[in-house]
Amino acid sequence: MTKLLCKPCAVDLAARGKTVKPVAQRCEKITCSECGRRRFGITYEVTGRATRKKEVTKK
Ligand SMILES: [Zn+2]
Repeated sequence: MTKLLCKPCAVDLAARGKTVKPVAQRCEKITCSECGRRRFGITYEVTGRATRKKEVTKK
C-alpha cells in the first residue's frame, strides 16, 4: 500500500521489518499517516509480511 510518511516514520517502519520504498522523489508538505503530523515527507510504497505471503528477501 502507499502511504504518506515523514522521514522519521519511514525509517521507523523500515526498522520494524517493513519494506519502505520511496515513490515520489520530491519532498512535500504532507500529513504523515503514521504520526499524524504536518511535516515534510513523500509518498512511500510500504510492503510487509502482513500483505504478502511470498517473501523474496529474508534476513
Ligand atoms: Zn510521521
